[in-house]
Amino acid sequence: MVPPRRVPPVALTCKMSWFLWLSRVRRRRAKNQNTRARKRNTRAAAAVTLEEIRALPPSATRPSYPRVLLQGARSIKEAQPWNCVMCGYVNELTPHLLYNLPAFQCTGCGADPREGDTDFGFSFADLDFNNVCPIGHVKQQKPGECIANALVSSVEINNRIMMTILEQPPIKKGPILDIEDLNFKYKKKWREEGKPEMKDYNGHSFLTMIRVFQTDGVKEMVVTHEDTTKLHKISDWDWINGDDFVAISSALADGYPLVFGFLVGEKVAYLEPGEIYMPPPEDSVSDDGERKPERHFAVLVGAHQEKKVKFFYFLNCWDEEFCKRSNNEGDGIRGGVGAISADGLCFGPVQIFRFNERKTQEVQQQ
Ligand SMILES: [Zn+2]
Repeated sequence: MVPPRRVPPVALTCKMSWFLWLSRVRRRRAKNQNTRARKRNTRAAAAVTLEEIRALPPSATRPSYPRVLLQGARSIKEAQPWNCVMCGYVNELTPHLLYNLPAFQCTGCGADPREGDTDFGFSFADLDFNNVCPIGHVKQQKPGECIANALVSSVEINNRIMMTILEQPPIKKGPILDIEDLNFKYKKKWREEGKPEMKDYNGHSFLTMIRVFQTDGVKEMVVTHEDTTKLHKISDWDWINGDDFVAISSALADGYPLVFGFLVGEKVAYLEPGEIYMPPPEDSVSDDGERKPERHFAVLVGAHQEKKVKFFYFLNCWDEEFCKRSNNEGDGIRGGVGAISADGLCFGPVQIFRFNERKTQEVQQQ
């Protein structure tokens, strides 16, 4: 039986000016990112201890992790080493925190792999990571609040992964952050920064919400009878180039959930597991000519390459009814994660940093 579907509560309007503005911000940040990447590449990749991870300086966002983690073998498609037909070099896998990825080009001679050599696929929804699934729960957003939900989900997943690595496993579904608290602080900051009143959320709202996480922090919902109020903060974030499938897949394989935007039309609500969503073109209209695609935010939680097809898995905030799995699949969440074509992203996804900011990102007891 087909599960009942709801009309997705999407409220972000698709405005070209906003898109152009985001592209400009992205270009500006990309400049800084390139400088940082160059610095990173000069660093030798040596094994580090947890204590060293905790002490890492803010610029080191992708250290080499200690691999003492129990990982359930839950990749959808395991990456394999491949032999280069040009030079005979055996290209071993590249280790990342949660998954190993194939070498995307020959290390020996730089040649491209044969079709199928670099196939792989993984999703956080299928991972048992030290007995913890990185996705604790699926949210159900209020109308217009997809940005807040996506951002909060990414901070929560970051926290689950970080606490698992620090050998302090999180509770089954948590942490669950208080979206009302984020909304309240966002509105306050919006006024303090002298911005004009707005009906909808937009790209500026997204950046303002990130600043709330950086300066004020967002409360964790009280799920026990303890009297403490926990605040979750982040120290920094960055864009990843939206056209760079390897960079996005690598960040995901390192366990970073990435906030991104895409256009949605009517068909998205009927997406089934195993289907890849192809967002409608920006200037398209619905069959009855009444509706245009709307912008929506979600969280990338996995990547997949199968021959020439490249796509990502994304965690939505339309409850587990979205893209619902059969009861026999997986042992964690029952739905809520769909697949989207790799060229369907509206802008470069946003990475919230996890390590090296332990002092600020860790949960603070008040
Ligand atoms: Zn080669």
